[in-house]
Amino acid sequence: MKPQSKATRRPGTWSNWSGNQTAAPERIAEPRDLDALKVLVKAGTAPVRVAGAGHSFTPVAITEGTLLKLGHLGLVHSVDTETKRAWVNAGARLRDLSPALETHGLAFRNLGDINAQTLAGAISTATHGTGASLPCLSAEITGLKIMQADGEMLTVSREADADVFDAARVSLGTLGVLVEAEVQLVDAYRLHRTTWAEPLDSLIGHAPSRWQTRRNYEFFYIPFAGYGICISHEETGKPETERPPRDDDEAVLGLKRARDYAGDDIKGRKAFLKSAFENFQGEDVVGNSWELLASQRNIRFNEMEYHLPEKRALSVFEEVVRTIEKKRPDVFFPIEVRRTRGDNIWLSPFNGGGRISIAVHAYHEDDYSFFFSEIEPIFRKAGGRPHWGKLHSLKAAQLSDVYPDFVTFCNVRNRLDPKGRFLTPYLRALFGANGA
Ligand SMILES: Cc1cc2nc3c(=O)[nH]c(=O)nc-3n(C[C@H](O)[C@H](O)[C@H](O)COP(=O)(O)OP(=O)(O)OC[C@H]3O[C@@H](n4cnc5c(N)ncnc54)[C@H](O)[C@@H]3O)c2cc1C
Repeated sequence: MKPQSKATRRPGTWSNWSGNQTAAPERIAEPRDLDALKVLVKAGTAPVRVAGAGHSFTPVAITEGTLLKLGHLGLVHSVDTETKRAWVNAGARLRDLSPALETHGLAFRNLGDINAQTLAGAISTATHGTGASLPCLSAEITGLKIMQADGEMLTVSREADADVFDAARVSLGTLGVLVEAEVQLVDAYRLHRTTWAEPLDSLIGHAPSRWQTRRNYEFFYIPFAGYGICISHEETGKPETERPPRDDDEAVLGLKRARDYAGDDIKGRKAFLKSAFENFQGEDVVGNSWELLASQRNIRFNEMEYHLPEKRALSVFEEVVRTIEKKRPDVFFPIEVRRTRGDNIWLSPFNGGGRISIAVHAYHEDDYSFFFSEIEPIFRKAGGRPHWGKLHSLKAAQLSDVYPDFVTFCNVRNRLDPKGRFLTPYLRALFGANGA
């Protein structure tokens, strides 16, 4: 399970960010207006798929048929500063939307680790950040304009076509093309970020109270170090501070060097990492929300993330750490642990209550089959639900076990796209042979 490198990609082919998913669509098109989009959606060779920024690790965006990109359909279309809602191009990138919305005094309530994704791509897989009181991005959507398989546009919200709205907010692009989205925003705000290193038992012991009391809290455990890095953000009225450039990439490469140099000498690797983390220099900075919440990730990796019931998640995390440190000395990427508020979206992993998410990563050139053989069974036996954009092995039968509204979703999907124009073989396996 070694990904194809981006460097070997042929012209006319498409690859995701990590390079583990590639496709050779019959056509890749970037329509410049809605008429051009309509022609492609109605008459393009099926399956018709939209690629966002290609930041999913699963084959959710790939097709042999027609692959669309919506980057040319604008940015912010309208803003209502009273309700703090804005209609935007769903195909715009979060990193372009945030500064544009800031000029209206508005901001996303929360973001994930990065902001390279498109809004439509992020909501289609229930992309989340961290914060016990903060929902995933899909739950911030208040309206959608969807181009259906016949080229007709459908506008949905809680008030209009509520069933399609509940299905579409997390739907992997299987209902139609998300052309515009209305987002609930908040007043632009600044954050105070602090980061520090902490031993494993303290990470586990303090996590529940920190999620209770802090706006955004997460930690990254460093395998074989016995230490993790905590990241906390609080809203503040304090002025922005100078921010030295973050060296996340260099830190990850340092962990790789420690692994490569130590080889079989696990004891030596542990001692080296422990002393490095005892001398860890944390951050204490103030900046605007979107610049502090999102980081740059330049060292490519593959990832599996499951969302766990809150009560079981920390013991699951301990089992994941034990398993990796016993069986997988090749792993050096941090294990990320975050918490997200519950919502009521049919295919949201957070449907029915808040969850704690645990993510394991593998360097993009490394084998990641252990995600499936060693880690996924631990997540699954604890009732975990996979991130739709990150690696997992579930198909329709297992998904319907963990999503109470799975069949309802499939029925609405089938009604909107009876011929399955938006379904690839991968998506048919997720949503059943005919999508039901
Ligand atoms: C470095 C990195 C960091 C990440 N950090 C986080 C994180 O902090 N939190 C988190 O939850 N996830 C995270 N992810 C995962 C990522 O947010 C999701 O996989 C997200 O879906 C990627 O968005 P995208 O724009 O790249 O969409 P793509 O991956 O290109 O597509 C995702 C899905 O959306 C569909 N789609 C895209 N645009 C449209 C449209 N206009 N209409 C209909 N369907 C559409 C696609 O067909 C596909 O099914 C990260 C991924 C990477 C590589």
